[in-house]
Amino acid sequence: MPAPATGPRTCPLCAEPVDDLYTAIAYGDRGAPAHFDCIVALLGEREELEEGARLCYLGGGSFGIVQMRASARSGDRGGTLLIHKRIEVEERDSAPAWREELRLPMPERRVNVAASEVAASEEVPCR
Ligand SMILES: [Zn+2]
Repeated sequence: MPAPATGPRTCPLCAEPVDDLYTAIAYGDRGAPAHFDCIVALLGEREELEEGARLCYLGGGSFGIVQMRASARSGDRGGTLLIHKRIEVEERDSAPAWREELRLPMPERRVNVAASEVAASEEVPCR
């Protein structure tokens, strides 16, 4: 895999500089750092959200369209977070140069290990 070209840290979505690379999301073929908020806005436009569904960051460069469902048991204040759709924004195992420079350990990677096989929906406990 060729090393991604380094260059100005400019968000490919809004063309503004990306000051905070720690929250940036690698986007596009070259994995350019994009503002987290720009990715959220992009996905919000692209995806149709049903009533009660919202977009949230699942970690590891992926977002999901999720819906909270209250627990069926009365008195249980927990609920279930239903993930309707998982959107991988970052390529799995992508390691853009700008992130290497940050020496980020990518602690969230493990979240994706089992979840990538999920096609339509999955349920995870959520408090
Ligand atoms: Zn931006």
